[in-house]
Amino acid sequence: MEGKDASTVLKTEDSGLFWADQIADGIIHRERYSYLDKPYKLPKKPSIKTSSSLSGVLHIGRLTDIIRGEAVYRALKDKGIPAEFIYVAEDMDPLRKIPKGVPDSYREYIGVPVTDIPDPWGCHKTYADHHITEFFDIFADFVEEEPKRFSMREEYRKGNFDWAVEIVLKNSEKVREIINSFKDINPTPPGWVPYQAVCEKCGKIMTTVVDKYENGKVHYTCKDYDFKVETAKGCGHEGWVKPFGKNGKMAWKSEWAAQWKRWDVVGEGAGKEYIVPNSAFFVNAHISEKVFDYPATTPIFYEHITIGGGGKMSASVGNVVFPRQWLEIAPAEALRLLFLKRINKTRDFKWEDTPQLMDELDSMERIYYGVEKAKDEKEEAHLKRLYEMILTEKPPREYVERMPYSTAAMVSQIALGSEKRAEGIISRLGYEMNARNREILPLAGKWASEHGEKLEIQKTIPKSAETFTPKQKEALSKIASLLDKGLDRHALAKEIFAVAKGFDMKPPEVFTAIYRVLLDAESGPKSGIFLLSLDKDFVQKRFRLEG
Ligand SMILES: [Zn+2]
Ligand SMILES: [Zn+2]
Repeated sequence: MEGKDASTVLKTEDSGLFWADQIADGIIHRERYSYLDKPYKLPKKPSIKTSSSLSGVLHIGRLTDIIRGEAVYRALKDKGIPAEFIYVAEDMDPLRKIPKGVPDSYREYIGVPVTDIPDPWGCHKTYADHHITEFFDIFADFVEEEPKRFSMREEYRKGNFDWAVEIVLKNSEKVREIINSFKDINPTPPGWVPYQAVCEKCGKIMTTVVDKYENGKVHYTCKDYDFKVETAKGCGHEGWVKPFGKNGKMAWKSEWAAQWKRWDVVGEGAGKEYIVPNSAFFVNAHISEKVFDYPATTPIFYEHITIGGGGKMSASVGNVVFPRQWLEIAPAEALRLLFLKRINKTRDFKWEDTPQLMDELDSMERIYYGVEKAKDEKEEAHLKRLYEMILTEKPPREYVERMPYSTAAMVSQIALGSEKRAEGIISRLGYEMNARNREILPLAGKWASEHGEKLEIQKTIPKSAETFTPKQKEALSKIASLLDKGLDRHALAKEIFAVAKGFDMKPPEVFTAIYRVLLDAESGPKSGIFLLSLDKDFVQKRFRLEG
């Protein structure tokens, strides 16, 4: 077993270089094949491949492969390599179960390639077209450059994989040996043919059992095939068919390798479940070199996104986040940050964390423009590169200040949906209503109403104010007078601390009084910006406990 493969690939985060640059460097400076004693030469037009199957729910996790693959592609291009970025729809995959919203009558299509099934919603030619269109519409918003698209069904139909099928069938025994060298139990039996035919009679692909390859044809019988939930019913048909063109496909442990050779793939994303040494990735890596004489591609292993403390996103649990939902609450860059910052650490998403994520993005931006300093030079270089990679467009020439997301969430709640009121508050806080702040305001507002803490400014003095100590009352009254000085948000915050000190109080005692008297709560937004956001006369009256 090739246990060393995975560990060498994942040691990327110590050198300080951005991980995609490290992978790109590894690809460019590679010298040898991985399993053959042969020199390696970078193809003239190397490509980074990304792909997806077309079944299942299109949640934000499905963008992982694309966003991470694109980062390596961009890193290669930045190093002067004329790389290509390609997307391959794995649309020879059969329908495995009936998704929600698809009529029960579709049970007859279980086992049929998704490209050969009519669109249940009637708006596209096929089931596959429906999903691929939706997928592309969505992911265009999350990448800088859209990949060149390919469909496996079309590739086979055009005969673009005939050469590979021929090689694989001639080398069935070698392929079988490689596969079995990774297996401790249930070895693939002699005579196995790494090809799946499409049944000429019923059009299903999972139901055909191929048992012979003779005189340029494969022999198959169409039998029932059990998926986990559903069974693909075989029609019993038996026949000989030429294994080319539209008639079928290679077994996955051969086809993946053939794709690398077909498109000169030098890197491809794969979830962390492929890191184990006997995964389909490494089986194909061996097949690629030993059967196709094509150097095993460099894997871009990554962790999947989890939600709400480590859970898997799942339609049946109902915790799925859709890309459109994301864009209603945060810009695409924030999701790119989540996916790009660390490639091989678990990342968990909670809606409540959105402000921190946005703060991280803002801070990285300030470091990029030199407005803020990073811990040291190494980190600064790393963060600047990461920031560049997160953007899907060229960064603006100059730094444009964006109010923090949490501030925007507060403003939008206090403004109660009025843009004019919001503009007034923003200017009191010392921010400009520029395009960026205009963009963030409704997003943060929606976040606040759905996932944030509600701010309810109390119309009258809350009962809890009756417990204030004399010192707390005096401090509030002092702050009320301070508001006449026209201080900005920084100075006001400082002064509030000074007031606490002046009365020999701990700052939390003052803050508690502020939040109680205004919100009837123990905590709230940062006091400086909070007080400036509200009507001055109202705050002064309230702080003097006059109403
Ligand atoms: Zn459709
Ligand atoms: Zn059949």
